[in-house]
Amino acid sequence: MGQNERVRAEFLPFSPPNIGDDEIAGVVDALRSDWITTGPKTKRFEAEFADYVNAPAALALSSCTDALQVALAAHGVGPGDAVFTTTMTFCSTVHVIEHVGAIPILVDVDPATLNMSPAALDAAIDEVVAGGILTPRCIMPVHYAGHPCDMHAIDAIAASRGLHLIEDAAHALPATFDGRMIGDPTVDGGISRSTAFSFYATKNLTTAEGGMLTGSTEFIDEARLWSLHGLNRDAWNRYGKGGSWFYEVVRPGFKCNMTDIQAAIGLVQLQRLESFQQRRRAIVDSYLADLDGLPAVDAPRELPGSVSALHLFPIRLRLDRLTIDRSRFISELGERNIGSSVHFIPVHLHPYYANKYGFAPDDFPIALAEYERLVSLPLNNQMTLEDASDVADAVREICDVFGR
Ligand SMILES: *Cc1c(COP(=O)(O)O)cnc(C)c1O
Repeated sequence: MGQNERVRAEFLPFSPPNIGDDEIAGVVDALRSDWITTGPKTKRFEAEFADYVNAPAALALSSCTDALQVALAAHGVGPGDAVFTTTMTFCSTVHVIEHVGAIPILVDVDPATLNMSPAALDAAIDEVVAGGILTPRCIMPVHYAGHPCDMHAIDAIAASRGLHLIEDAAHALPATFDGRMIGDPTVDGGISRSTAFSFYATKNLTTAEGGMLTGSTEFIDEARLWSLHGLNRDAWNRYGKGGSWFYEVVRPGFKCNMTDIQAAIGLVQLQRLESFQQRRRAIVDSYLADLDGLPAVDAPRELPGSVSALHLFPIRLRLDRLTIDRSRFISELGERNIGSSVHFIPVHLHPYYANKYGFAPDDFPIALAEYERLVSLPLNNQMTLEDASDVADAVREICDVFGR
């Protein structure tokens, strides 16, 4: 780095959690009550969350990963089934398909949004049908960075092929597609759709760890069985006043219920979500203005008809306009005290999946090419506009020094 370049004094972390006094008071209240696991606070969180995303029912769980797995189990997806998802996601979207014994079929992305390409999805389903070995059962789209997938196209494919739809909305709270909240299971064409959200520490709303599954009332009832040992009544119903000792096990269920300690945090965070989102939008607007016209940077854009949850701000470097690669770009940001990350290393590049399914890196050429130029800039609800311009200044300066 040159002598006269300005560096912010303190490191700007990529995504620190935003926990205030109200969350702390909520947790203390839960701990001082006589119910610390799934109970009244969890029930309230489920009801308020369902209301917020306009879903008839919601199920609070220990993570988004568990929400996805419970949803697959509740649909009866298992050995012999093919589940279609994107390679541009976090590994857990794909792991859960393996966990239920089904086969993940990865699909390449659309270059505009890095969401699953509907055309590539259609082709992948054709290929499975032609293979005659696996039964296509389910599509798991991921709303990458918070930008909704083209749900008209994906709903239509699911409806015409008779497939279940489970959305990975880990990034997509709150987001809307064509005026409908992501999490609202209403689909034209009468197919079933459910949606999994994440409350991991870095997500738009956090409970430290946690997740939520939304869907139709019947589907959420079935998912609830799967989430708690397959018991036909949960502990709150058994140990509460007027409860009965008797229960029956009706499914070989998992154990991934949310605690009231987590729900206490979630209830407060849900109240703060609109203000969190306003801050994210202000940071994004500032980035878009400051990075506009930089020839080495492609900034993410919302498509008309979509409102992104603005979970991430993944820029894409024009490597032909730079003398350095993405990895060096990230270390130059770090030297300027800016934290950053990469979302995602495509799933098919990871050794477990590459070895098991024999993937070559260019089996998904768009995901591969975009991966090599992706850098996620900091975007969180605690950043100030000054932080945002420090980041943009650092990006500009790196482009100046290493541009061509
Ligand atoms: C964070 C994340 C998950 C996993 O969420 P957890 O709540 O940590 O299980 C799944 N999918 C995507 C795309 C994610 O970013």
